[in-house]
Amino acid sequence: MFSCGICGLHYSDKEDAEACESWCKTHNSCNLQVAKKSIEAKKGK
Ligand SMILES: [Zn+2]
Repeated sequence: MFSCGICGLHYSDKEDAEACESWCKTHNSCNLQVAKKSIEAKKGK
């Protein structure tokens, strides 16, 4: 499992975690397209 160092969301895919982290760094907010792939989103929380 991989996590975004900025927002703390977890991803099963390293590429998704890196995409989230680079987005979070640049935009200081979450990209829904990326965040919906997170483990948290898949759990339905
Ligand atoms: Zn993030």
